[in-house]
Amino acid sequence: MTTVRRVLAISPHLDDAALSAGATLADFAAQGADVEVVTLFAGTPREPLSAIARAFHAACGLPDSSAVSLRVAEDCAAIDELGARPHHGTFLDAVYRRAPDGGWLCHHDRAMFDDQPLDQDDLLIEISHQVRHLVTILNPDLVLTCAAVGGHIDHRLTRAAVLNSVTGSSLPILLWEDLPYAVGRPPSAVLPLPLTAPPTAWERKWRAIACYPSQVRMLWPTEIDGVTQLLAHAKIRGGGRPAELLSRPAHRPLAVWRSPQSSTARPPPLGAAGVGPRAHWGGRLPPPTTCLLPGRNLADQGSSAACLGEQGR
Ligand SMILES: [Zn+2]
Repeated sequence: MTTVRRVLAISPHLDDAALSAGATLADFAAQGADVEVVTLFAGTPREPLSAIARAFHAACGLPDSSAVSLRVAEDCAAIDELGARPHHGTFLDAVYRRAPDGGWLCHHDRAMFDDQPLDQDDLLIEISHQVRHLVTILNPDLVLTCAAVGGHIDHRLTRAAVLNSVTGSSLPILLWEDLPYAVGRPPSAVLPLPLTAPPTAWERKWRAIACYPSQVRMLWPTEIDGVTQLLAHAKIRGGGRPAELLSRPAHRPLAVWRSPQSSTARPPPLGAAGVGPRAHWGGRLPPPTTCLLPGRNLADQGSSAACLGEQGR
């Protein structure tokens, strides 16, 4: 059994971690783990912007001149709600990037979801290098990232970079089901782990999502309420109890963990290491937890983060 003291969540965009794994991350934090959320594609673009980027900003209700900085501020508030620490990379979102031929990478609406080869080898190498650096500095016990459900190119790059970066190590990895892309779809991830969490963790997730007004406006522009939709989806995934669906890559080991009941260790401030802009301890005194037995059905348990059995082998 391995104690989880440090969780590293690697998110493509400024909302993905909270939307997809917010309850799980909040549960880890509430139990005393240090939870770091790194958003890779949070770089600020230079003018000119593409028509697609401007349309995206308009859908979010964001001004072109400060869209990313406003989204970063939203993310800081959201991740703080989860009891975690936010950090922001400088890679440009796909809507701001150019293709090797100099044209816009996303030259039409939803081009980022095209089922195309990544064709971003240099970028993938650079991101992989950055992720390796993060893992070295933070020394996490567990890494979470996206499964890239929905096929967004930045999500695929993130997943590939994380898997590239830990090749040959035994570091446990979990992939989260990307939301809201997975809503209405059957579970597509192999070896699914439906992780339940206490109601307080879900409340934190909903409060965190509310910290992203620009993304809520863009993702749910009509009368559909995002929290209602996500809660209904979570209940489907959990068989009646809300759950977030995660999976482990088929070739990765999954250790058994629990939160640090007696740990007083704290990682060094990330800001000082040049990794992120914020460094504060957002955790609380860990409550008593009960370690789940390996092989139990996690959806039937009261807590996700306390301990995971070696599910789904
Ligand atoms: Zn995303």
